[in-house]
Amino acid sequence: MKKFITPLLLTSLLSLTATSTIASETAWKYEGKQGSAHWGELSEKFGLCSTGVNQSPINITSVIEANLPPLTMNYHKSQVSEINNGHTVQANITGNNTFTNDAGTFDLLQFHFHAPSENTIEGKSFPLEAHFVHADQDGRLAVIGVMFELGEENSELAKLWKNMPEDSHSQATLLKELSALNLMPKEKSYYRFNGSLTTPPCTEGVRWFVLKDTIKASKAQINKFRTVMGTDTNRPVQPINARVILQ
Ligand SMILES: [Zn+2]
Repeated sequence: MKKFITPLLLTSLLSLTATSTIASETAWKYEGKQGSAHWGELSEKFGLCSTGVNQSPINITSVIEANLPPLTMNYHKSQVSEINNGHTVQANITGNNTFTNDAGTFDLLQFHFHAPSENTIEGKSFPLEAHFVHADQDGRLAVIGVMFELGEENSELAKLWKNMPEDSHSQATLLKELSALNLMPKEKSYYRFNGSLTTPPCTEGVRWFVLKDTIKASKAQINKFRTVMGTDTNRPVQPINARVILQ
């Protein structure tokens, strides 16, 4: 049962759906009095947002060469339902989608977006970042971050955006199955570091893999997401402290 319950719990924790008790207990925003500078004060459960020392996102810099093993992706076409949870547009995915490396095997639970990017690379911000949130059998989280650059329209993103739930706490189920692999670059070399959820409760112990290669999205696609969210959806970069960033 552990295998089943834990990802389910994490899905509700991460998705902050309309029915989620966390969402109804404590509202948070990206700006203003409930903005990221105040998350730690909004709820006891959000304490790590202000006291944590391994917080995400970060500016990826001072990277150490470590000859990292490849990410082995095992994603398939899967049913996807999209939810606008008021903080992002999130695609909850069913089916057997995993990635494996020396850290273990992780199941893909959902992916979602931030504009502008949350992580930055040597100070460079990107117009959009996707987070592919995974958990292993023990509930340990791993997030793969993918940066988007301005360019031609992204056909896979177009499938998602076509049905984008535009009202907060609304959702849509895609008729066609979708492979999350089509929202990643072919080359999957990556930066690796420890971090946290980038939204309350800012839980630490998250394994981060930010891909070096980027993919493209059009200005119209990025603007659509920005318009629907109505605000920047990035937490500012956090201190690296004692962490090392490997590549
Ligand atoms: Zn995220």
